[in-house]
Amino acid sequence: MVHRTFESKVSEDSNVPILEIAPIGEPILRRPARVIDRDELASEATQSFIDDLIATMRHAKGAGLAATQVYDDRRICVIEVGDNPRYPYKPKIPLTVLVNPTVTPITEETFANYEGCLSVPDLRGVVDRAVGVKVEAWDRHGEPIEREIWGLSAGTFQHEVDHLDGLLFVDRVTDTTTLCTWKAFERHHREAFVTRVEALVSRFGS
Ligand code: ZN
Repeated sequence: MVHRTFESKVSEDSNVPILEIAPIGEPILRRPARVIDRDELASEATQSFIDDLIATMRHAKGAGLAATQVYDDRRICVIEVGDNPRYPYKPKIPLTVLVNPTVTPITEETFANYEGCLSVPDLRGVVDRAVGVKVEAWDRHGEPIEREIWGLSAGTFQHEVDHLDGLLFVDRVTDTTTLCTWKAFERHHREAFVTRVEALVSRFGS
């Protein structure tokens, strides 16, 4: 598959192209991504695609980005939270590349996560996410990853792997009265949400 790129946009520190992000309504966002084998992962095309995915996530200031969000059907997503102006309350997550990931809840406890998405411009909504999940995947070199993720970070992993199953956070919003623009979130919902997040982060450290 050919990646669509904005030719004029190049990330600041290199010549890595920034990929176009698919907005809600694009069919690729609704198709489960395709599991890849080790040979395809090791190929130059896939390795350079992973670099592009990381650069695009950073450029868009996302906490994560899935291949389907850039018109690609490979089952790959990337996650990274540093000092993110889009989500300043999020605990840091080092750069993580997940190939063929699955996420399994390891507790029935859930928390109400206010989510947003680069593919759903200017909308946020409350999604119930498991407080703890087991993540199984390969890293970009095909080495197995098996990790438990807890707290707010668990929501980030669930959101990204949902993309690879053809789901968007809006599918999981049960109380549609929580849907809001980013501006309305700041004005009406942020304070209460950050209080909840702080309680979660102090329990789990993540
Ligand atoms: Zn998303």
